[in-house]
Amino acid sequence: MNAPVLCDIPITVERGQREVFCGLTGIVWLHRKMQDAFFLVVGSRTCAHLLQSAAGVMIFSEPRFATAIMQEKDLAGLADANEELDRIVHRLLQRRPDIKTLFLVGSCPSEVIKLDLAKAAERLSASHQGRVNVLNYSGSGIETTFTEGEDTCLDALVHAAPYTDQSQLIVVGTLPDVVEDQFARLFESSGIAEAAGKVAFFPPRRAEHIPAIGPNTKFILAQPFLNITRRTLIGRGASHIPSLFPFGINGTLAWMRAAADAFDVAEANISKACEAPIARAEKALAHYRETLAGKRLWFMPDSQLEIPLARFLQQECSVDLQEIGVPYLDRQTMNSELSCLPQNSSIVEGQDVDEQLDRIRKNQPDLVVCGLGLANPLEAEGIITKWSIELVFTPIHGFDQAGDLAELFARPLQRKQRLRV
Ligand code: SF4
Repeated sequence: MNAPVLCDIPITVERGQREVFCGLTGIVWLHRKMQDAFFLVVGSRTCAHLLQSAAGVMIFSEPRFATAIMQEKDLAGLADANEELDRIVHRLLQRRPDIKTLFLVGSCPSEVIKLDLAKAAERLSASHQGRVNVLNYSGSGIETTFTEGEDTCLDALVHAAPYTDQSQLIVVGTLPDVVEDQFARLFESSGIAEAAGKVAFFPPRRAEHIPAIGPNTKFILAQPFLNITRRTLIGRGASHIPSLFPFGINGTLAWMRAAADAFDVAEANISKACEAPIARAEKALAHYRETLAGKRLWFMPDSQLEIPLARFLQQECSVDLQEIGVPYLDRQTMNSELSCLPQNSSIVEGQDVDEQLDRIRKNQPDLVVCGLGLANPLEAEGIITKWSIELVFTPIHGFDQAGDLAELFARPLQRKQRLRV
């Protein structure tokens, strides 16, 4: 272990066995967001099982994701995997005229045999020109944790985006449509939309409508796990608006203010536009403060949402943070958040799962936020858990979701309380 220092909070780095889903999991929320996109995983039966169990089996609708399963002869290099892939894609596109963007998603097996999906995407895009845009990214567990699948997917979209020199604000990160609509209304009522010229959300609801990007594009992140996408956007000439992430009242207000500052919108406009949503959020949060105040909470490294959520829980629900685990820490993306955490916070980057479990047993937190694989064993030991994957499947951003966000943590504690009574 070593301990570099940032914002006066020591960050402990652990390297050992990890317990995190791979980036393929992101397909579950990405395919719901981009209605004209199809995700074709080039992988194994394990990858297909992971997707099926994470997304549930869709019996009544045509699914918008699938796995092209590599056989032993592909893995042994005895067959031409490219020819096979081309055949599968041609068949798929013939059968599904609704697909406008096709993502070829890399996995551990495709990476192990060094199947060049970037070249395959180029070749297939050329042979289906005008009909479908074929892009590729990696969701492999060798390279990505589960939310990084969104990062690599959005990065591929940024590379495919056209150029513009028009002034605009882009909100980057997959948001449920209902949250996107709430933010769009706030940008309108505060005057940010008018000052920016245009507001776009990225990814768009239809992948074929990728917003154009250029030197007069300013972007703000809605999700904290988009480090590669942030760097690529900057590489395309866009400027990043640093901010807290829009979780809870403080995070959402800081996020709106940062966007307003970037376009010289007066603070008074933001206060006025946010007044009513803040009052609603205060009321909703009050329900859960009593349950959460003083509770000792532990984040295992999983979703990469840990630091912003820890900040929300500590500042707005008076939670006592015992340990905040993060899979990796990008200091530029997370700098504003880190400066809001208490100086004595214990932050652990990376994972050595056995050591972490030992620390949990020793410290006996009231609630552990962790991946599915660790929840059952911990519950069996009498430790209350919250599945971190729920945090990416549930609308939690913005003022109007602040109460729901607090409820996600309060519910398991209340359930346990009821069982004890
Ligand atoms: S990409 Fe790798 S880690 Fe993910 S399901 Fe496939 S084999 Fe497993």
